Amino acid sequence: NEYLSISEDDAWTCLSHLRDIHPNLAHYRLRAALGWEPVPGSSRVSDWIEQHRHEFAPVITGPDEDAEPVYFDFSVASLEFDPTSLTVPGHAAEALWKATGDGVSIGRWNEPRLAYTGAAYGTLSGERRTVHIGVDLFRQEGTPVCAPLDGIVHSTCISHDQFDYGGCVLLEHRPDEAPVFWTLYGHLSHDSVLQLEKGQRIRSGEAFVQLGAFEENGGWVPHLHFQIVTDRLDLEGTFPGVAAPSQLATWLSLSPSPKNLLGLDGRVDTPPRLSTEDLMVRRREHISSTLSVSYARKLHIVRGHKQFLFDAEGRAYLDAVNNVPHVGHSNPRVVDALHRQMRTLTTNTRYLHESILDYSERLCAMLPDPLEVCFFVNSGSEANDLALRLARVATGKQDIIVLDGAYHGHLTSLINISPYKFDGAGGTGCPPGTRIVPMPDPYRGAYKGMTHESGLAYAEAVRAASDDRGVAAFIAESVPGCGGQIVPPPGYLAAASTAIREAGGLFIADEVQVGMGRAGSHFWGFQIHETDDPSTHVVPDIVVLGKPIGNGHPLAVVVTTRAISDAFTNGMEYFNTFGGNPASCAVGLAVLDELRDQGLQNNAHVVGSRLLKGLIALMPKHSIMGDVRGVGLYIGVELVRNHSSLEPADSEASYVANRMRDLGILISTDGPLHNVLKIKPPMVFTTEDADHLVAVLDDVLGEDAVQAQVKD
Ligand code: PMP
Repeated sequence: NEYLSISEDDAWTCLSHLRDIHPNLAHYRLRAALGWEPVPGSSRVSDWIEQHRHEFAPVITGPDEDAEPVYFDFSVASLEFDPTSLTVPGHAAEALWKATGDGVSIGRWNEPRLAYTGAAYGTLSGERRTVHIGVDLFRQEGTPVCAPLDGIVHSTCISHDQFDYGGCVLLEHRPDEAPVFWTLYGHLSHDSVLQLEKGQRIRSGEAFVQLGAFEENGGWVPHLHFQIVTDRLDLEGTFPGVAAPSQLATWLSLSPSPKNLLGLDGRVDTPPRLSTEDLMVRRREHISSTLSVSYARKLHIVRGHKQFLFDAEGRAYLDAVNNVPHVGHSNPRVVDALHRQMRTLTTNTRYLHESILDYSERLCAMLPDPLEVCFFVNSGSEANDLALRLARVATGKQDIIVLDGAYHGHLTSLINISPYKFDGAGGTGCPPGTRIVPMPDPYRGAYKGMTHESGLAYAEAVRAASDDRGVAAFIAESVPGCGGQIVPPPGYLAAASTAIREAGGLFIADEVQVGMGRAGSHFWGFQIHETDDPSTHVVPDIVVLGKPIGNGHPLAVVVTTRAISDAFTNGMEYFNTFGGNPASCAVGLAVLDELRDQGLQNNAHVVGSRLLKGLIALMPKHSIMGDVRGVGLYIGVELVRNHSSLEPADSEASYVANRMRDLGILISTDGPLHNVLKIKPPMVFTTEDADHLVAVLDDVLGEDAVQAQVKD
């Protein structure tokens, strides 16, 4: 009976999960969900330990027994450990031993970390275990380990798995006035563990085992992993030392802070982390609510590395949406270039310096003639504003032609030429002096079905918009992003740029999003339809660069012709306090070096083509996918409820972006109808990342919430 068994699936899923975990753990997690103490008696163990805190023997000491312990920060955003060298001995370990000296170094309890990369750190739900629930005591291999209080050997275990404990022991303790509890000793030498016997008495202060070497301790820098266990969950000689963030309350009750047992102070307990709700409350206090925060479940991102972002609990997200960290998040070469130049000198363009010369020479060499004069600014908006000034001075005209749905920046001058804003919520409509031409969108709207020929006909629209008053410029993103990741057909841009010149105006190419190799096949977006036929070549009068060129450092550039620059040189000085300072130029140069040396334009071509192909292959399966389009690593997936009316599936697009976020992949939605999935990852995105994105999107598009809306 379908009616009666409607919720049977969920019941079976629940039962199978319950079967896979220890009944006590299920019990504790239910208690935690109720806000009760998860493990009954856990706080009595902690209280007893606190009352007796002066009676415990030191577990590990260095040659200098009185040396103050050194507390390390291995949390997600720690600069003490970089995510590429977390486990094996290397420069990070050398720094650690130097700091340790003759004492002991400490790794903290309740600390989210990026170190736990092995398969063993996954969970049934797919969530990774990231939070360390023991304490690390760092000393060299062979160091004796003592029991802090009387106990008996409950069980031992030897693991040969990488990232596991190596040799491990559980001692059992039965205080008179508190429940039984255990202490766990991990990363021990195998020999010392093999000598122990089950049930053997160990006296407080007795050295009963030794620290293992890297080769036998799971592959870690030698140290003791020490942990309190209030319920063994029937495990022998081992116990999880790292917990999943979503289950943390339960696991911290199973393994409370060993601070008092180890004679350490509060620094061993990682400071409480603010929840995203708490952060939102703080944010509302002094930050305007007009600044939006992505996703229904907000992200507290504290670290970036290559194409990954990490939240404060150590969860990794594949970043498929941020195009600013072009050569990878926190790229070391870029960071280093900035750091060196900041340490040496940052002034302004009123003094001579090589970096601005090197950078402008490199940029101009990458652009077609006669683009040869650079202006350095600090944001895409500033650059577009300057581009408008250049065009207006050079032509003596004021009016600007823009694409419908375009966005060019947040300054007053740019809101005035951004239909995305002035025709959107809170906007006051098209101001005088702005002329809108339709989006050259082959999928929907005035140019639906647009081909090469109608691309040429587009010139008519530009001519019509340039009436008797004349126009200063036609400004367009070469491959429109905010308008919905549109790839205009061949012919359109060449025709439009010719038409605007015939009307006495200039063509400003906004390459803020799509420039710098992202298009894959070509370095600049305005080149993507170039063939051997010179009439297909587009050379803008002004090119605007921003976002990716500084990899996160505020850097933007306007490049134009000598003639336009000369016209602008009318006696009024152009000065920009920060624009073109040596540090920004050093960053810009490092980004160009990385792009070249890592072959990232070609990567965008190879990975982007594969991604596009993978997404197109999903279309027959998911009729909600109306259109898949893109160039290189700049891709849009337009969702529609109906292929005839093209009814926008906006709520579904938002649902999909949120589900992808929950499944660890960041994309966003865009377009005037808010129904386009936007994909524009850092250029270091790999083929594996592309395949993973396609697979996860396939799953999400198959979910009932998406399917329910599709009409044909
Ligand atoms: N032009 C385009 C095409 C953009 O996408 C943006 C930013 N989204 C800008 C200009 C403005 O850049 P910024 O936010 O750096 O001022």
